[in-house]
Amino acid sequence: MKKMTTVMLAAAMLGATMAGCSNGGSSASGGGNGGGSSTPNVGVAIYKFDDTFMTGVRNAIEKNADGIAKVDIVDSQNSQPTQNDKIDLFLTKKTNALIVNPVDRTAAGVIIDKAKAKDTPVVFLNREPLPEDMKKWDKVYYVGAKAEESGTLSGQIIVDYWKSHPEADKNGDGVLQYVMLKGEPGHQDAELRTQFSVQAIEDAGIKVEKVAEDTAMWDRVKGQEKMAAFLAANGDKIEAVLANNDDMALGAIEALKAAGYFTGDKYMPVVGVDATAPAIQALEQGTMLGTVLNDAENQGKAAVTLASLLAKGEEVNKDSVGFEITDNQYVWIPYQKVTKENAADFK
Ligand code: BGC
Ligand code: CA
Repeated sequence: MKKMTTVMLAAAMLGATMAGCSNGGSSASGGGNGGGSSTPNVGVAIYKFDDTFMTGVRNAIEKNADGIAKVDIVDSQNSQPTQNDKIDLFLTKKTNALIVNPVDRTAAGVIIDKAKAKDTPVVFLNREPLPEDMKKWDKVYYVGAKAEESGTLSGQIIVDYWKSHPEADKNGDGVLQYVMLKGEPGHQDAELRTQFSVQAIEDAGIKVEKVAEDTAMWDRVKGQEKMAAFLAANGDKIEAVLANNDDMALGAIEALKAAGYFTGDKYMPVVGVDATAPAIQALEQGTMLGTVLNDAENQGKAAVTLASLLAKGEEVNKDSVGFEITDNQYVWIPYQKVTKENAADFK
């Protein structure tokens, strides 16, 4: 209630139209929010266009913007200085709200300061700002998914396989020897998926031994290279491959195929996260054991719906956004386990 009053006051002060009205914009108060016209301008900065998962989110933003926001989506080319420049440009133009997928999540604080100075609300996406930064302003939101949950679910897929396939313990020592392909260090999804996937396996009473771990930076080609190196160094010792995302898992599968896996009875359980289209295909072909849906569609939808409401100074709640808001600033989209059995539901 308090929040709504503040938002309404701010909108009134800017001379913008109130929620729901559309009698044309009367605001000319230099940038800022409350654009007044029926379709607000939303500036969207993606960390890099060349990322499979974020391409899915980007497409979902574009699709769901239809009728509620004019989106201008830019590529930050994996450079925080480039992203900062693009955001500065948005803030000098008539941008009524921002959607930011930070390159470096610790840069969110600076972005929030700039946006706040122009009274332009920000919805962060996929790379979670630090809690102290989120607290800087109440017109800052985060749309994402609980990384711990995806780690746990991917670990459970390995557990199910291990328990139903005694031959999975290739050296018969009762210990699961695994390799880990990690995403970008420092990214909450990389750190927490790594930790919680192994935790889920241990929680199921299975002893584990890490044979190797390296970052492949979310990237398919790097995933293939790292997996090839793991195989060269440790060969037959490896009993499972855990990857923080599908692209790296698919890269690992390429390396495994080159080493003769997935023909005859030479098999390796490989798990990823995201449930991208090529991963679903790999599940159906039997090369990937499992993945976890990282719901690009709903993350994009929630982000653009939120940004549109904030841009217009309208009230933000479960009914208006269509997604639950936690702690006044967070929208958490659930993950889901995906294996060959239910793969068809995710196409
Ligand atoms: C996805 C990765 C993606 C990364 C980008 C993660 O949530 O699982 O596939 O590369 O976000 O920030
Ligand atoms: Ca073993």
